[in-house]
Amino acid sequence: MKTVIVIGGGITGLSTMYELYKWKKANQSDMRLILAEASAELGGKIRTVKNSGFVIEAGADSIVTRKANTMTFIEELGLQSEVVYNATGRSFIYTEGELKQIPTDAVFGIPASVESLAKSTLVSAEGKVEALKDLYTKNETFTKDDSVGAFLEHFLGKELVEKQIAPVLSGVYSGKLSDLTLASTLPYLLEYKDKYGSIIRGLEANKEKFQIGGERKFLSFRSGLDTLVNAFENKLGDVEILKNTKVSEIEKENNRYKVSFANQEVIEADHVVLSIPHTAAGEILNDKEIIGELVKLKSSSLISVYVGFDVPDSLLPTEGTGFITASNNELSCNACTWTSRKWEHTSESKNLLVRLFYKSSHPAFQALQKMNKEEILQAALSDIKKGLGISAELITSEITNWSDQMPNYRITHSKSVEAIESKLATAYPGIIIAGCSYYGVGIPDCIENGKNTARKIIALL
Ligand code: FAD
Repeated sequence: MKTVIVIGGGITGLSTMYELYKWKKANQSDMRLILAEASAELGGKIRTVKNSGFVIEAGADSIVTRKANTMTFIEELGLQSEVVYNATGRSFIYTEGELKQIPTDAVFGIPASVESLAKSTLVSAEGKVEALKDLYTKNETFTKDDSVGAFLEHFLGKELVEKQIAPVLSGVYSGKLSDLTLASTLPYLLEYKDKYGSIIRGLEANKEKFQIGGERKFLSFRSGLDTLVNAFENKLGDVEILKNTKVSEIEKENNRYKVSFANQEVIEADHVVLSIPHTAAGEILNDKEIIGELVKLKSSSLISVYVGFDVPDSLLPTEGTGFITASNNELSCNACTWTSRKWEHTSESKNLLVRLFYKSSHPAFQALQKMNKEEILQAALSDIKKGLGISAELITSEITNWSDQMPNYRITHSKSVEAIESKLATAYPGIIIAGCSYYGVGIPDCIENGKNTARKIIALL
């Protein structure tokens, strides 16, 4: 009888296990399936907290609808009737003491028409003229391995990138644009540049793909994103789900793997999936060469702060759904989502719920990381007062420190992942890496990666 252990019960581990379990059932296999999760709950970076009439997503808050597999897994799990979509609205950049609207006709702040560029209130006339060089400058040198920052600046100019694009894009991809490749962010921009001669024209010609305006761009579930986690868990039949069970070490023994747990138990397995962050993988693998590759992968930190107020959210600017900050010294936060506006299901009584994001890229972050929760809350209240002019009585707050938990795919990312895969295949052929540290951070990517991981194991059985 073969044994497969999936370590890490986040969405990748759950998806891997679901595919393995389906195969086991269809093939009437006697394979033993074990899912080991260190914490008390499954879900990892998906964690829903329900408090005082608010639905609070401590980690991920939504799923992008644009991904090809999104509706497939929702239908397969029978969750169609639970789906809710984001409200559409206007997003702002907080700069020079005020909220300025991001042009609606833009993709990650990149104008999707010349008109959109012309109408922007974020960029000077000189900045706009500079950006127009995109229309007549050919791409002769850039490849998908170049930095997205250098690429955008070369064709659209420094000012547009700094004031309108970088605040949006570096927020989405958690990192400096100069450290992120086109391949790991927006590879299609290169195709558009080559095919249409212009990034702006390329986006314009493909507008439908980006659902500009934000309508039904993201989805969640009416009682929270953990609906997805629970749905996977409920489908796992006779899989042994071990919660509060941290893996402390993996050793190879006669072509099998001895998996030791922090509670001193040991299980032998034929296949092991490491669907845990790369830092956690480094802690349980006793192999200097592989650890040497794992440490090359980088991640950043984020503190998420929710504040629920005893005032109606109609106090906020009409149709707005949030702001990001452009310069790093006006507020301590990088962004603020007007959660109760964007997601109706998150506030039972339509009271105001906002979420602030504090990222390690911000100069104020170091000080914040040393603060206790009460001090962080005070910093958040001060940002809300400055940014939104609101200083009402609060009903609830939820602070989550995602320290070193946000993967950053740097320029060398794919090379490092290939090196880890190849070293594992040679020295530990039964061990497979999976999840957001390596193959994409979005929930649909993690689910697809889980499926592929299960298929790799099935092919070896
Ligand atoms: P994880 O969720 O990290 O799961 C790994 C699991 O392994 C954890 O449960 C952990 O406890 C467990 N573990 C670790 N070490 C051990 C060990 N030694 N033994 C046993 N178990 C162990 N994505 C989106 O698509 N939309 C969003 O809106 C979005 N927003 C985000 C906001 C935040 C604040 C964060 C942090 C992430 C967000 N993401 C979002 C990204 C997405 O949530 C993650 O990429 C995805 O959930 C990662 O899933 P995973 O299973 O690969 O890893």
